[in-house]
Amino acid sequence: MSKNHYIIPIFVPHLGCPHDCVFCNQRRITGLSTDVTPNYVRKTIEEHLSTFPNRKITIEVAFYGGSFTGIQNSIQKELLAVPFEYKNKGKIDAIRLSTRPDYIDKEVLNLLNEYKVDTIELGVQSLNDEVLNKSGRGHNVQQVYIASKLIKEYGFNLGLQMMIGLVEDNRERAIFTAKEFVKLEPYCVRIYPTLVIKDTYLEKMYNNNDYTPLSLEEAVDTATILLMLFEYYNINVIRIGLQPTDNIRLGKDVIAGPFHPSIRQLVESNIYRIILKDYLDRYYEDMFNKTLIIETNGKNISNIAGQKSSNIDFMVDRYKLKNVKIYIKDIPRDIIEITIVNSKKATLSRKKAIENYIKKI
Ligand code: SF4
Repeated sequence: MSKNHYIIPIFVPHLGCPHDCVFCNQRRITGLSTDVTPNYVRKTIEEHLSTFPNRKITIEVAFYGGSFTGIQNSIQKELLAVPFEYKNKGKIDAIRLSTRPDYIDKEVLNLLNEYKVDTIELGVQSLNDEVLNKSGRGHNVQQVYIASKLIKEYGFNLGLQMMIGLVEDNRERAIFTAKEFVKLEPYCVRIYPTLVIKDTYLEKMYNNNDYTPLSLEEAVDTATILLMLFEYYNINVIRIGLQPTDNIRLGKDVIAGPFHPSIRQLVESNIYRIILKDYLDRYYEDMFNKTLIIETNGKNISNIAGQKSSNIDFMVDRYKLKNVKIYIKDIPRDIIEITIVNSKKATLSRKKAIENYIKKI
């Protein structure tokens, strides 16, 4: 989210769930409910608003939890009535929630319309039926298309969430899902690499050697392609990876899988590695023991250098360079100026480089 946009998160935990997603640790019960009350919603909103006495930013209330529209109608109404009131008074600007594709129909959307909800995010996870099936999602691909179409017809912003590395998923299937997302023209996307969480069916599969999670490297590799694809089509990827919390950490509730607290930065750095490699690979022989100078907008510096200078080390090692120097220059973010001292000079465009890459996949 941008600096000018602030989210008031309200997590709506379910008291169990009638579904059996293999990656989730919700206890299986029939019927969805929650112990979040309207008073809690009001208190949370007030607490956050008190930190913005003279606000110049847009504020959005977001109900997270995954299956909002599966909760009993009367409870949905009670919870939505609170942000609805704040929106009518002009104290907040927008309302968003997340739900499952099979919990969307005209009746549901009419209710959300009545309470002025702006954005509906669908937990899609994959657009491959075998992946959905083996992951115990309990909905199919067709339902995703129908729900997405309906959400857009009603004029809501459509958010789509996908997972990578689910059971039976692979790189090609993930790219296919992303390409299908592009066709659905979402307003925003989230990408979650699958983690093996404690007390899930996936944990059992993992312990029985029936499931191998992606390595961090594989997850970054796939997420990099997806991010480039979405960027190329101007679709905003608002999150990559679960938010680190006290429990979402390796060794706590995360048993295994590609968890990294700054996975987004790893992906962003990897994009620059691909762009630089694509150009520099042509000049292997011109680089031996030379200095490579990269000039760029200050906002790109850390991603170009990579975490712990990983991209710099990569280039020095690959091209046998003497060293790599990165300097800030007052140029647009899209531009990277490259100088191989006493040799080549070039101006690269991130947009153009991504375009070339996307054409090949
Ligand atoms: S991920 Fe699946 S099992 Fe978990 S709460 Fe959502 S629908 Fe239920």
